[in-house]
This record gives sequence, structure tokens and C-alpha cells, in this order.
Amino acid sequence: MRGVHAWFSFTEGTGAKMTPRDMERALARHAREHEALARLSEIALREHQLRTLIDETVATIADTLDLELCGVLRLRDDDEAIEVVCSVGQPDPPSVVPVGKGSQAGYALHTREPVVTDDLPSETRFDATVLTDLGMVSGVAVIIEGYERPYGVLSAHTTRQRRFSTDDVNFLQAAANVLSATVERGRKEQATRHAALHDPLTGLPNRTLALDRLDLALARRRRGKATVALMLIDIDRFTMTNESLGHTAGDEVLAALANRLRETVRASDTAARISADEFAVIYESGGDVRDIVELAQRIAGGFGRPVAVGGGERSFTASIGIAVAEGSDANAASMLRAADAAMYRAKQRGPGSYELFDAEVRAQVLSRMHTETALRHAISEDQLCLHYQPIVEVPTGRPVAVEALVRWEHPDHGLIPPLDFIPVAEETGMIAELGRWVLEQACHQGAAWQRQLALPLRIFVNVSGLQVVNPAFADEVAEIAKRSGLLKESLGLEVTESILIEEKSAALDVLSRLHDRGLRLVLDDFGTGYSSLGYLQSFPLDGVKIDRSFIDGLTDDDNDGAIVRAIIDMCRALKLATVAEGVESEAQLVQLQALGCEFVQGHLLCHPMSADDVGAFLARHLLSGDDQRLLMNGQTRSRGRLRLRRRVDAIEA
Ligand code: C2E
Ligand code: CA
Ligand code: CA
Repeated sequence: MRGVHAWFSFTEGTGAKMTPRDMERALARHAREHEALARLSEIALREHQLRTLIDETVATIADTLDLELCGVLRLRDDDEAIEVVCSVGQPDPPSVVPVGKGSQAGYALHTREPVVTDDLPSETRFDATVLTDLGMVSGVAVIIEGYERPYGVLSAHTTRQRRFSTDDVNFLQAAANVLSATVERGRKEQATRHAALHDPLTGLPNRTLALDRLDLALARRRRGKATVALMLIDIDRFTMTNESLGHTAGDEVLAALANRLRETVRASDTAARISADEFAVIYESGGDVRDIVELAQRIAGGFGRPVAVGGGERSFTASIGIAVAEGSDANAASMLRAADAAMYRAKQRGPGSYELFDAEVRAQVLSRMHTETALRHAISEDQLCLHYQPIVEVPTGRPVAVEALVRWEHPDHGLIPPLDFIPVAEETGMIAELGRWVLEQACHQGAAWQRQLALPLRIFVNVSGLQVVNPAFADEVAEIAKRSGLLKESLGLEVTESILIEEKSAALDVLSRLHDRGLRLVLDDFGTGYSSLGYLQSFPLDGVKIDRSFIDGLTDDDNDGAIVRAIIDMCRALKLATVAEGVESEAQLVQLQALGCEFVQGHLLCHPMSADDVGAFLARHLLSGDDQRLLMNGQTRSRGRLRLRRRVDAIEA
């Protein structure tokens, strides 16, 4: 702190002898200055906000010394500039002034001495432009000391030619000292507060602060809609590392992992160290559980990268337990318990695992996310394949088409049915790529069978509504079919009615273009939706697949029988082909035949099988000498072979 010893003296700056009148005036001013300082000191004692004290100080000084400009300027932490914190008397002071000889404040900080000037326009020690531009003629700048380095400058100026006496300077310095005491105290308080709430090793918030932040986040959540989650991150086998490498190395690891954690979470999240080998993240955002799980994965990934320690490198894993706030009474304690329980389970599952507390959410989200990640690799790593199921013509008992059904041969989970991953592919947009792959494979296989069997075998491919609404789809499909060498008009697509209803105009447009390019269009799962056949008339459809549920109930439910009859009758009237899917019994087949259904498909005739098996099945039923009757309709072998010959002739011609 700077000395103020000469503050109360009865000489003016010039040292000239004073008249009694001068003396009286000087006494009065000293009394005012004294009073002002006492007031500022008093404010400094009770006021902990430095800013409030600064505001008071500049106002008091300008008033006491009757000045046009008074301000407090702070030396920026990078020492590159001096910022004006507060200023009175001038409407538009600059917000930043130069350091060093670029300004009076800079010069004061440079010399570390009060700088007094009577005549700014003729000043040569520093550049006074900033002040002369404001119309200032004379003034003083004194240093406000801070911790280890100056805090800044208290500066006082006037537009008049004025001689600032030693007393004036001392008064200003005394005021600056009151400020610097407060700066110092604030810094100490801050340091104490920081130390009480932070972990000294990593600098992260400690358990106390983490729980406090969690409480605040939960309070905000009760007022809004944010998702709040607590994630506990426990470094696997850290005790072992600590024992084997020593505690210094253990500390290095903790500091390195703390940095990874800090880099991974967003600024709005709190990353904390809550015990020796346990970190926590408090997540608060509008995102959902998926985002939280993704964050956990990123954290796990960050911990997995090798850490330089004790001259070598080590990788770590962490077990992560996640609790997501639910209900209105979620509190820090209950969240901590839930996250702890989840972490315990994660530990049980093995190193590097994470667990969500809520069992249901956990199961759903995790399985979805696993499927999604794995599915991304499925195509490139050749894990997808197509199975085919023949479609048989009822009067002849002859397989005339096959439906392609996608399968996923997962390296760990075995064969995954399409209903478990098609919806995920649709949600994530992967369906476009997957759908294209299915089409290419199916067309390719279809063309191969057509060559081998010399038959115009049709191939049907299931397409998702999301593919159908893409305007480029028609051209893409036609192009794929053409490239594969498939006979013209042998490719059919199976679409579901929901897309026709929800996206009528887009679907109509694409389906018409597909139809124009010679593709067969079949409406799948018919009867499960709400549309009438009349409505469907507006679409360029070739046939309808009667949903399996009606075929199921066909032999023991009169109602289903009536529905199937109605569908078949209407299709006949509308010139639409009818296919019954899921035919499992001979009784069902007999009834369908009696109702006039044209095509059947189901386990009774053939299960979906690999391309090789279906190829053998087709060859056996279409080409070989011991052609069997697939259906119980009394077809004779010779008539069947005659038809076959005709078809082969047709293709060859
Ligand atoms: P879907 O188009 O209705 O396919 C018929 C489903 O019935 C197939 O199940 C088939 O294996 C099964 N099935 C065939 N005959 C019988 C039978 O006699 N009894 C019984 N109980 N079931 C029979 P899968 O292969 O599990 O396919 C399920 C659904 O997944 C398909 O229903 C289709 O909607 C979708 N799907 C399959 N492959 C693809 C594809 O490549 N792309 C798209 N977008 N969806 C596909
Ligand atoms: Ca289908
Ligand atoms: Ca179906």
C-alpha cells in the first residue's frame, strides 16, 4: 500500500506562504477530503462488491475535488491494455486505453509512481491524446495496487489549468489505497471460497460444490423442462495403479483424466471430483436420455486414450452410473443413490461399462443405441443377407415369384429379424442405404435365377415408406433393375398402406413413375390399416397381399372368412391380383382356393430360406423330372411341364 503521510499539510503544492484566507480555504478542503476518505473506508468495510466501492469512489473524488473527469482503470490480465471500469464526468470515455507511454494511466503503471500533469497539451512523457480529445487540461493518475501486480489506476482530470498539490495527490492515493485493500480482500475471499469448493489436485469442483450445483439444476428443472442427470464415473482398478506406480503417478493420472473430462463436457455441465477415484458430471439440458448416454460414451472414450505416466503410457477404463431426474421430488441425495446403484451394476458388468438407473429406459435406450451402432457396420461388413420365400400360383401349384426378406447375421447376437432393426434404420436414415443394398442384391439374385431356370421368375422387394417418398426413388430402382440384367417387368415392390394415406400426393407421384417404368406394385399387409379398397383404386397397384392375421383366423373365425372373401371379390372387380401370406395349414389353403385367391405364400409351402436353398427348391419344382405337386389341386405333372416349356420358350423368344 502506498504511503499517505504527507496528506495533511498546510502548504499548497507551490510551497508559497499562505494568507489566512488561503489557509481557511485549504482547511475547509482538507476537512471535506478527510470526510470523503472516512466515508469510503466505511463503505469498503461493509461493502464486499468492489464495483460498488469503485462507483462510490469516483463520484466522491469528482465531487470533493470539483473535477470534470474521474475514473478507475483496470490493467488487463494479459497486460496488453487498460480497461475503464468506471468513469464519471464524461459521457463517452474510451473503454480501453493503451499501456506504457500510450496514455497517462499507462505511464503511471509503467513508472509505478503517481503522475501529475498541469498541461496535458504540452505533455511529452506520454501520449495524452485520449485525454486532450476529451478536453482535459490537467490531472493526476495514481496506482491502485493489487495482489502481486497493480490492479490499475485511479485517474482524476479537469478541463481547467490546475496545479495539483501534494495534498491532492496524497488524497487520491489514499482513496486508491482503500480500493486496493478491497481488491486484496476480495481476492483472498475468492481464494478461500475456491479452496473450500474445489479439489486442489485437479482444480475441479469438489463434492460440496457438485451437490450444490445438482440441487440448483434440480430446482431449475422443477420450473422448466430441462433434463437433469447425474453421472458418476469411477476409474476401474485405480487403487491398483496407485499402489503399483506410487501416489505421485496416481495423481498425474487423476489430473490427466480430469482434463479429459473437462474437455468432454460442455461448459454448462459441471464436471467434479467427488472422491479419491470418482468423478461426477452434472448434466442439464433440453436433450434426452440418448444425449446423456452419448456423453457417457464420449467420456468413456476419452478415458480410454492412453495417459503418459511414470515414463510410460497407460490406458484406463471407467465404470459409469447414470441417474436421470424423474418426478418432481428428485433431489441430490436420491440422485446420488440412484447413480451409485447404477455404477455398482456397471462395475458388475465389467470394466468400461455404463448403466442407466431406470431399468426400462436403460433397456430401451441401450438396445436401440447398440442396434444403431452395430447396424452402421452391418452393411459394410457384409453382415446383411437376404432370405427368399417363394410365392406360389394357386391353380398351377407353381412358384412364380419370390419375396426377398432381409436378415442380419450379427456376429454376437446371431440372426436378427428385420422387425428389430428396420425401424432403427428408418429412424436414423440408414434405410436409404439399406434399402438400396436390398434392391441390388435381390435384383442380382433374381437375374441369376432367371438365367439358371430360364423362367420369368418375379422378385418382390419390401420397401419402406421413407424410400417411397423420395422423388429420386423411381429412377434409382429402374436403374438398379436394369443394371442387374433382370428381365423387364420382373421386379415388384411391396409397400404398406400407411404411406399411401399419410403422404398421399408424394406416394402417388413416385408410385406412378415406378409403374410407368414397368414395376409391379403390391400393397402389403392389407386389411390392417383403415383404407378401403375404393381409396386404393387411385393408386397404380397391381395386387394386394392379404395380411397374415386374416389367414390365421380363416378356418375358425367366420368373420375373418367373410373379410377375406370380400377382399378377394373386390380385388377381382378392381383387377388386382390377390396374394395370401402366412399360409400354414392345408385347411387354410383349401379355403383360399375355394375363395378364388390367386397366389399363396407361407410356411406350408416353403419357409424363407437362403438364396442357395431357394434356388434348389425352385429348380426342383420347376425344372427337375420329379416335379412335385406343391398344391393339392390335382395338377398333373405333364400339364405342369407343358406350361413350363411354354414359359421357357417365351423367355427364349
Ligand atoms: P412382411 O413383408 O409382412 O413379411 C412377411 C413375414 O412373414 C416375414 O417375416 C416372413 O418370414 C413371415 N412369414 C412367411 N410365411 C409365414 C408363415 O407361414 N407363418 C408365419 N407366422 N410367418 C410367415 P420377416 O422376415 O421376419 O419380416 C418381417 C417384416 O420385416 C416384413 O413383413 C417386412 O415388413 C419387413 N422387412 C423384411 N425385409 C425387409 C426389407 O428388405 N426392407 C424393408 N423395408 N422391410 C423388410
Ligand atoms: Ca412383404
Ligand atoms: Ca406382409
